[in-house]
Amino acid sequence: MLQRLGFDNKWRSWIEGCLRSSQVSVLINGSPTSEFSPQRGLRQGDPLSPFLYVIVAEGLAGMMRSAVQKNLFTSYEVGAKRVAVNLLQFADDTIFFGEPTISNVITIKSLLRCFELVSGLKINFYKSCCGAIGSNLSDLIRYAMVLNCKIMDIPFKYLGLPIGDNPRRQSMWKPIILKFEKKLALWKNKLISLAGRVCGLGIKDISLFNKALLGKWRWSMFHNEKNLWGDILESKYGGWRDLTSGEDNNFQSYWWKDLRKVYGNKDEEQWRLQGLQFDSHKKDYWKWLPGNTQAYTVKSTYGELLSWKVGSEEVPFLKELWSLKIPPKEKILTWRMYFESLPTIDNLKMRNIQIAQNEERCRFCLEEIETTTHLFFHCSKVDQVWKLCYKWANFNTVLPANAIQHFQQLPGHSYKNKQASRWKIMWAAAVYNIWMTRNNNIFRGQEVDIQQLEQKIRFTTWSWLKMDKDFPFNYVQWESAPGVCITEDEG
Ligand SMILES: [Zn+2]
Repeated sequence: MLQRLGFDNKWRSWIEGCLRSSQVSVLINGSPTSEFSPQRGLRQGDPLSPFLYVIVAEGLAGMMRSAVQKNLFTSYEVGAKRVAVNLLQFADDTIFFGEPTISNVITIKSLLRCFELVSGLKINFYKSCCGAIGSNLSDLIRYAMVLNCKIMDIPFKYLGLPIGDNPRRQSMWKPIILKFEKKLALWKNKLISLAGRVCGLGIKDISLFNKALLGKWRWSMFHNEKNLWGDILESKYGGWRDLTSGEDNNFQSYWWKDLRKVYGNKDEEQWRLQGLQFDSHKKDYWKWLPGNTQAYTVKSTYGELLSWKVGSEEVPFLKELWSLKIPPKEKILTWRMYFESLPTIDNLKMRNIQIAQNEERCRFCLEEIETTTHLFFHCSKVDQVWKLCYKWANFNTVLPANAIQHFQQLPGHSYKNKQASRWKIMWAAAVYNIWMTRNNNIFRGQEVDIQQLEQKIRFTTWSWLKMDKDFPFNYVQWESAPGVCITEDEG
């Protein structure tokens, strides 16, 4: 088989070496026997075996091709162009497709038997099953008896997903969701902190991410027209041209309809970006602009879609915030502040949590009702803190009223990246300490002291900057000239 697929002698001898050189020792009554070589094949779980299996399974495809050539097997034909499908293989999963006739079933049986003899692999017929669409049950039972396998239910599961069910029904997804919940519960035990989970996974907008993934189909359909699946889609639905110009009809699957929605006229304003324009007339003219490589990537599309949704101003801000070198827990804090998801008084009230009237006010000014924007930016006392910090750092500015502008008006453009991010670390340290001061007042009765708060911000900023080995200044140097420490590279 290896030879047929074009592997040369040397490579084949390596593989043979792997197969023959393994030594096995068996535990008998708890003590190992002396080692011996197995007669043939790989042990179960050997990392090589899936790769070799894929190569061996190619033999089955070859046998099927010749069965079709000799008219021993009638394939199933898809769509107007009658694309023949008879065998799909994915890792160690194999599906045969064909007309439901007894001669086809007998051919499959003999192919599998031959495959067993040639490959030395054993097929577990009992684990396999067969099903028929549009033929009667007695025929189906006959086929199952010939193959010595079970009868398949519809919907059936393939790669863990139910096939043949209606994907718009919640009930179809229930078992899958349950499975995931179990997995997530296991994770939770392993990674307790939100920071750990969020940092690893990134926070994604699932619906946009889905669009980006569907976009991959469109791209691949265009570029792989000569593949079997490209042929099938072309034959059944009209291929990629139908996505933008075809008509809706009832024969289309849900999947295809969703795909059409992503590209079709309904969502056009979303996809009208240069790189996403699909010109059905100029076939050879197609580039993907958002990525660097001009090839479609889900990542670049996702970024693009996200920026359309949240506004182009916001994405760089969030990215920059996320890349700051500060402890993850505090990073999440600034992130939550930005998305107004901290348990400030207004948010607590929104969740129907009872707050006594005398506890509704901002802990700094004791005048206004506490909201996120008030607490961090609008409050007259907190405003003083920001001004003190900036004055101390020798940086003059008029403070804007919202988080993004507040963050972005920090000096940045005239500095190198490293220095610019140092200013931003100070910003994050201020947000963190404002929140801590507020909490210490509510939960520990500590008095709010603006001077002390500023001191804390200085210290936190310095300790976070120190996390970077390139920051050489000690605290005394930092205290006396923070602006210089931030803008200079060496001490
Ligand atoms: Zn206030």
